[in-house]
Amino acid sequence: MRAVVYRGPRNIKVEDVSKPRVSGKKVLVKFKAGSICGTDMHLYRGEWKIKHGRIIGHDACGVRVDTGERVVMIPITYCGSCYYCLRGLTGYCEHAKFYGLTRNGFFAESLAMRPKNLVPIPANVSDEEAAVVEPVALALHALELLKPNVGDWATVIGQGAIGLLMTQMTRLKGCRVIAVDLADYRLRLAEKYGADHCVNALREDAVKRVREITKRGSDVVIEAAGTARTVEQTPFMVRKAGKVALVGEFKGYLNLEDADEALFFTTYISPAEYPLAVQLIADKRVDVKGLITHKFSLVDFEKALQTANSPEEKPVKVVITA
Ligand SMILES: [Zn+2]
Ligand SMILES: [Zn+2]
Repeated sequence: MRAVVYRGPRNIKVEDVSKPRVSGKKVLVKFKAGSICGTDMHLYRGEWKIKHGRIIGHDACGVRVDTGERVVMIPITYCGSCYYCLRGLTGYCEHAKFYGLTRNGFFAESLAMRPKNLVPIPANVSDEEAAVVEPVALALHALELLKPNVGDWATVIGQGAIGLLMTQMTRLKGCRVIAVDLADYRLRLAEKYGADHCVNALREDAVKRVREITKRGSDVVIEAAGTARTVEQTPFMVRKAGKVALVGEFKGYLNLEDADEALFFTTYISPAEYPLAVQLIADKRVDVKGLITHKFSLVDFEKALQTANSPEEKPVKVVITA
């Protein structure tokens, strides 16, 4: 069967590999659709490394061969009995494996999965929508920790897939939203999703604009761009005793002098949020369709990666189909 195999930076290829063995508690799942995530791009650009020969991909859906059910695949395994699992923190399981990083991932024609890592997909959710669940789950997890109040100012820095979902979902929570990005096409999407103010940080001083709009600083700040510069701006944007979620990859140094009592935290995805993420898409409370800018078939994966890596193509989510 065909699969997308990591051979090193800028060297991720569609290859023929042997079919997965279905044994014990696992069932066979045929790949339907998946999406490329920032993590895959880190691997492509050589910023992160994994074992050579590993199949990548960790946001995807497929069909269970034994029941015919369409399912979303959860990329983290968890044991259910370690220190973290017993406290409901399955995302930090001490025996966790991450598909597409520490074990073979989802960009393959078929996979062997444990049923507990599969979430059934309602009939009104398309395969392509079910290919973009991870950022919804991540946004849900960040919101769970932020707990914003109705009417709070929420500043979302970075309007990629995760940022755009944070924009949508802070609106769902009743927040007033300031969307910050460097690209107008992404800010236009943020506006479509209900952002009250859109700030292009190439043209305006984002910190100054946020303080002007909110008067005393933003009640909550969500950093979803993952650059040193944007991470370092967060203490100057948040109001006293506000909260900052560092959702993007954390780099840089926080100068906390200006933040007084603010709470800063990092986040990671959790398997617990997947069923609700799928349900919110089915209920049309969260839109992922509008994030899909490009589609490629699995055999054209290299073209898909090049597109996701080309700013001039204006990619948000690049979807891969069987
Ligand atoms: Zn991801
Ligand atoms: Zn565990």
